[in-house]
Amino acid sequence: MTYKPTNALAKKVVVIGSGFAGLAAATSLADKGYEVTILEKNSIPGGRARKFEADGFMFDMGPSWYWMPDVFEQYFARFGKKPSDYYELIRLDPSYAVVFGENDTMEVPAKLDDLYAMFDRYEPGSSQNLKKFLEEAEYKYEVGMNEFVHKPGHSIMEFADLRVLKSLFRLQMFSSLSNHVEDLFQHQQLRELLKFPVLFLGATPENTPAMYSLMNYADIALGTWYPKGGMHKIVEGMVKLAEEKGVRILLNQEVKQIYVPNGHATKVITQNAEYAADIVVGGADYHHVEQNLLAADKRRYTEKYWDKRVMAPSSLLFYLGIKKKVDGLHHHNLFFDRDFTQHAHEIYEDPQWPSDPLFYVCAPSVTDQSVAPEGYENVFVLVPLAPDLEDTDELREQYFDMVMDRFEKLMGQSIREHIVYKRSFAHRDFKEDYHAYKGNAYGLANTLLQTAFLKPKLRSNKVSNLYYTGQLTTPGPGVPPSLISGQVVAAEIQKQFAL
Ligand SMILES: Cc1cc2nc3c(=O)[nH]c(=O)nc-3n(C[C@H](O)[C@H](O)[C@H](O)COP(=O)(O)OP(=O)(O)OC[C@H]3O[C@@H](n4cnc5c(N)ncnc54)[C@H](O)[C@@H]3O)c2cc1C
Repeated sequence: MTYKPTNALAKKVVVIGSGFAGLAAATSLADKGYEVTILEKNSIPGGRARKFEADGFMFDMGPSWYWMPDVFEQYFARFGKKPSDYYELIRLDPSYAVVFGENDTMEVPAKLDDLYAMFDRYEPGSSQNLKKFLEEAEYKYEVGMNEFVHKPGHSIMEFADLRVLKSLFRLQMFSSLSNHVEDLFQHQQLRELLKFPVLFLGATPENTPAMYSLMNYADIALGTWYPKGGMHKIVEGMVKLAEEKGVRILLNQEVKQIYVPNGHATKVITQNAEYAADIVVGGADYHHVEQNLLAADKRRYTEKYWDKRVMAPSSLLFYLGIKKKVDGLHHHNLFFDRDFTQHAHEIYEDPQWPSDPLFYVCAPSVTDQSVAPEGYENVFVLVPLAPDLEDTDELREQYFDMVMDRFEKLMGQSIREHIVYKRSFAHRDFKEDYHAYKGNAYGLANTLLQTAFLKPKLRSNKVSNLYYTGQLTTPGPGVPPSLISGQVVAAEIQKQFAL
């Protein structure tokens, strides 16, 4: 499968989509001398991490948790830069709050010693187990982030060297995170605290390998951060860096077709223009790129294959402007006052609108008044939902009422009557705005059977110069993995199409 471009140098790269993965791939390739153009359908870059402004509020539309600061540092360091060249980070303390019920809120301290003390208060002696748990999690983080996530996942052979094989057992690939936590901790609230981080990976703790306690290391040891001005500051920094490297970013360019005359792509066609390409990188949702932009005989996977994938959840989101400061609200608030088992069942096993959901509230204005007018609160509410559900205005309103009733009750104050701005976002918008398969919010779940070489492949086997990147391929969902995905695909392109 070695395609020899006619102009001897395969220089022109077209990247579809300006999410973290597309931006990282584009910048890495431009840095090595490729001529890179990003085509983005929306009017601003950033994909799921876009922002919008309304009535004096600045809302981040997607990610709100800045975890794994080392991944961002390593990314910028590749280009001789630092995150602080582009944005200012603040470490949150408490990292976040978990609301288990009325007057039952766990504030998770940023300092490790304070966290050990908190564990001992909940379950005497449990700090010893937490130390043990974190030592293992640190090992997994190091092996996972240094050895595994940068592998392209072409084949199982990448994992066949002895050191990696040996580590598979210590990494606990074949036991569940849930069992791992329950073996060590008895207190229900501590268990829930330690199981929560893997929800970012799109599957339940029961279906997520215990290897992913590396997420607990990220949470507890590496901390929860916030870029002043909002998460979109990361996108702005990455765009600036991309442009410094010569990447051309064209907005409002929706790709309609990848033209593949003889087994290799020669151009990418948008609604009103055509772009010649020696190499194409699909940074939009994998399913969309191959099922909608390629002719049927150029697709690696069938609709049936996609339908069998376990997708990460979709979400119902509300962006709210509130004309008051909400007492007791933290920057990150997890409302775990209900049993997650039932909600998880209604996401994964028997998809339906949940009977009694958990939800999450982010209020960046608690840390940063620049995202809301003085004295107002900027609030983002997220209810995880199964992908592919019917999504109507009536259902959104019904859930808004349900969540607000609980939010007000648990916070012990009226909130609804102070709302001065409200916008909702769910499946229909994910599909419309990002071409998200089944309206997923964050890609493909990291279950055991969808890990590493078992994920949809980075490289097409039908089109010799077509690659895929982003949260539906390796290493998986989340901002740091998407950043890594872009770098991994860029390295693969350099191997196949060296300049
Ligand atoms: C509500 C929500 C909350 C989240 N919270 C967190 C969090 O707190 N922390 C975290 O780490 N992660 C979080 N995530 C996940 C994280 O945001 C994503 O994993 C990451 O942003 C995905 O990046 P990506 O580059 O793979 O895809 P995307 O961001 O989706 O980028 C793909 C781009 O392709 C564009 N595109 C699609 N089709 C076309 C086309 N035909 N032509 C041109 N362009 C096209 C889209 O417009 C989009 O800009 C969250 C996601 C959501 C939705």
